[in-house]
Amino acid sequence: MATKRGSKAVVKGTVQIMKEKAAARSKQVKKAGATMKKAVAAKPDKVAPKKAATARLVAQVAAAPKFYPPEELKRFKEMILAKRKETIEELDSLKESMMDVTTGEYISESSNYSLHMEQGTDAMEREKTFLFASRGSKFVNQLDDALARIDARTYGVCKTCGLLVPKERLDAVPTAQTCAEYKNTGLPCDKGRVALAKKKAGK
Ligand SMILES: [Zn+2]
Repeated sequence: MATKRGSKAVVKGTVQIMKEKAAARSKQVKKAGATMKKAVAAKPDKVAPKKAATARLVAQVAAAPKFYPPEELKRFKEMILAKRKETIEELDSLKESMMDVTTGEYISESSNYSLHMEQGTDAMEREKTFLFASRGSKFVNQLDDALARIDARTYGVCKTCGLLVPKERLDAVPTAQTCAEYKNTGLPCDKGRVALAKKKAGK
């Protein structure tokens, strides 16, 4: 009897263990299912990945700052003022090189042009100098425009899409008024397109 009861107890124990194992298994399966569901949810929509990408861009555009903060504008201003000074110094030295050593007068673009024609390289050099000078003064004007935009706090805002032109681009081209993408292709970038659509919708 004792052994019978004992074996019964063993059977009971085995059943209990099997039940527990089964419960643990089902728990595990459930857990795995939840993890899988999470993974599926985290993945962008397979059917409409474009939609998901657009939604991401819309969120990015909505969260993007509209203007550069004052301390950043101050940094840009200092950089532009330094560039302006440097350019004006270059222009001054160009002017000096354009001065006629014999008369002490500035050689204007039209003055005695034919007279100097026989001195071919001289004329070419002078033409180059004039070109540099006009480019330089144009650059100074553009820098002045940039300074005015800094005072108006609109500096760094892309003229096309209204998003901020990246800092790196402004550091390299402080007179830039549009994103590089637009400058190079004539078309706004993906984010710019979203921003433009938003602007159009009046949101
Ligand atoms: Zn832009």
